[in-house]
Amino acid sequence: MKAILVSRHGGPEVLEYTDVDAPVPGEGQLLVDVSFAGVNFIDTYFRSGTYPSEPPYIPGTEGCGRVVDDPRGEIAPGTLVAWHDAPGSYAEQVAVDRNRLVAVPEGVAPEVAASMLLQGMTSHYLLHGVRETAPGDTMVVTAGAGGVGLILTQMAAAEEATVYSVVSTDEKERLAYEAGAAKVFRYGPSLAEEIKAENGGRGVDVVYDGVGKDTFEMCLDVARPRGLVCSFGSASGDVEPFKIQELKSHGALFLTRPSLAHYVATDDEFLMRAQAVTRAVEDGTVKIRVNPPYELKNARQAHEDLQARRTTGSVVLAV
Ligand code: NDP
Repeated sequence: MKAILVSRHGGPEVLEYTDVDAPVPGEGQLLVDVSFAGVNFIDTYFRSGTYPSEPPYIPGTEGCGRVVDDPRGEIAPGTLVAWHDAPGSYAEQVAVDRNRLVAVPEGVAPEVAASMLLQGMTSHYLLHGVRETAPGDTMVVTAGAGGVGLILTQMAAAEEATVYSVVSTDEKERLAYEAGAAKVFRYGPSLAEEIKAENGGRGVDVVYDGVGKDTFEMCLDVARPRGLVCSFGSASGDVEPFKIQELKSHGALFLTRPSLAHYVATDDEFLMRAQAVTRAVEDGTVKIRVNPPYELKNARQAHEDLQARRTTGSVVLAV
């Protein structure tokens, strides 16, 4: 089968379109013909070696496609399913754990299904896991027009939270407003002050930051006393080591660095979040904005665009 292979760590150029053996499903897995593979920022961390991975490997964990065969005969061949955690998803076929997939409802396009679970369940656990969102909560969302950013903003706005979104371009600003942001800001040295001025100088209840290194100081500055800084990603690089006393001097803040895996730790928790996301997409509460799909063989271009901040919303590969 055709697949993308990473034979060594490096930049987008190490993503090689080639022929590999088809996967053999293990115990509890199904073989699936991939229709679309989701592209996520975390794929770039594994590719570069920032997160541990052992080349050669096929990247990608997320996607949507049709069941080829279920050894247990429970799921009919041809059923359209979506998953978020099947390593090797940048390929024509992948083995998916049967307890970690959802059936795609009619009316949800396959490219949308391919990119809804990882970013959608992340948004869900940020709002209902890391802390419980209540109407009237105030929050900052950085990279507000990215894959997670747009979904998180829509979910939070639907729950009557006030979202202050941070983006880098006019087009991203437009998308963040469309998603329900109350006010959209640009990065800069006075960002925390500008946001605080908008909410009466109080600071926000929670900061959701997927940018990392470049925005961490701002996160500490913009959170209200006893507020939460949730540093869930590092698109600009890892947050530098810092002194824990900083949390005290910024107002007895709470700080967490969560990961999706810990918030879908059991099959039940996965199902709860996956169903919540699928329902929200099906009933239109969340509209997933998918970039024009890249062909599988152009995975390199997809990574280049994602890392160069050229994409908005979600990114998928058409297989
Ligand atoms: P995005 O679509 O949000 O793409 C990244 C965005 O980050 C860019 O579009 C850009 O938006 C912003 N950005 C700011 N500075 C930089 C920089 N120096 N280089 C590149 N991008 C930058 O990606 P995802 O939605 O896939 O992921 C967002 C973040 O969330 C990532 O850090 C990812 O690792 C993390 N994540 C964490 C999870 C978890 O459970 N902990 C799960 C899923 C994602 P702008 O131009 O507007 O600044």
